[in-house]
Amino acid sequence: MTILSEFQTVLNFPTYLNTYLFLKGSQHWKKERWEHYQLGQLQRLLLHSYKNVPYYTTLFDEHRLHPTDITSLQDLRKIPFLTKDLVRKNIESLKATNYPQPLQFYVEKGKYFARMLAYGTIQNQWTNQHFFEKHIIILGQKEPWRYGRLGRTLNVSSFNMNEKDLPSLVQKMIAFHPAHLLSYPSSLTRLAFYMKNNALSFTPALQNIVSIAETLYPWQRTLIEDTFHCHIYEQYCQRESVAFGLSCSHSNSFHLFPQFSIVELLGKDGTPIQNEDETGEIIGTSLHSFIFPFIRYKTGDIGVYTSKPCPCGCHYPLLKRIEGRTQEFTLAKNNQTFSVTGMYDFVAKSTSHIQECQFYQDTPGVLLLHIVKTPKYTETDTQNIQKNFQKLFGDRLELTIDFVDHIPLSRNGKYQLLIQKLPIESLP
Ligand SMILES: [Zn+2]
Repeated sequence: MTILSEFQTVLNFPTYLNTYLFLKGSQHWKKERWEHYQLGQLQRLLLHSYKNVPYYTTLFDEHRLHPTDITSLQDLRKIPFLTKDLVRKNIESLKATNYPQPLQFYVEKGKYFARMLAYGTIQNQWTNQHFFEKHIIILGQKEPWRYGRLGRTLNVSSFNMNEKDLPSLVQKMIAFHPAHLLSYPSSLTRLAFYMKNNALSFTPALQNIVSIAETLYPWQRTLIEDTFHCHIYEQYCQRESVAFGLSCSHSNSFHLFPQFSIVELLGKDGTPIQNEDETGEIIGTSLHSFIFPFIRYKTGDIGVYTSKPCPCGCHYPLLKRIEGRTQEFTLAKNNQTFSVTGMYDFVAKSTSHIQECQFYQDTPGVLLLHIVKTPKYTETDTQNIQKNFQKLFGDRLELTIDFVDHIPLSRNGKYQLLIQKLPIESLP
């Protein structure tokens, strides 16, 4: 294999260029135009899936459906959902038989990365991250830090955002003079806490921050903005790539790229959410993945509906917020579910003397709160938390508090606000 062909396997350049040019050319499309595009692409995807993907051949036949029955985007609802569980059970029959390449995480090697890189280029333009300026990227990686992109990028590991490593890492980061920062919100939070408490700052100041991969909670946004004095953009995507959303400089709403996928926001009963501020589950149909089609995939992520256009003038569909995953919900004694989003805010309001915390649940109606204290934390803080918790939940949820030295991260270096051991299937 020549170097060029090896490079083509890793990154298919024509795919990158075509995707990029298409995204640029379609960015001002109005609703009718992109809906027309989506329907055409959907019909191609369905015909292909029926013909080449055994799982879909069987599914369509069982439901007496034919791809030609889908003549509008609304017709998509005739097709049953795909769930994480179904993917696990049907991993072989979900692969298209007409692709000779092996799959990597359900994706077509080379083309997938090229396409995502094109979206990444667009993301950098949206978020004003300029290629030649210095970037710090904090994600899950093995080495505590390393330089990349000819010294223009400093990659820092989210695993090292802890008491022990932060002092030296922050010195390195400050000396790097970054213009841009891209990170998980949990790492940003740890960094902001540390820099604020030690009166440290980036000089010249950061121009902007991009938060990815985890939910950015309102209290985290406030802390990060107060510390770094710059705009935070948010990106939303999943491993299965069934939705790609970005916030812009005019609002915190997620602009969902219609070229990427068709996104539905559905209530418990499976009907579309149409009321302002109402929440529903995000269901995505990828318009790019033909090798492993994700059609009406239940992401488990909860989104907040809005019909108000963004002042930036973009015509993409919007989500006002993303409230986290269904697994970020706790189960009360009466089987009611509550989002932990609000819970973190309530802890933050009850005390300013905690460094970080994490909820844990393995029993309905009982919630455990692990706290990493700051030196100022006293018994009064515990009482405040308990008192406020009681006010909110009465006897529906019982709170137990314990203290830990640190909160471990997940295998890929991400922070989880709640470790939920109970199966939470239903929506709040
Ligand atoms: Zn906008």
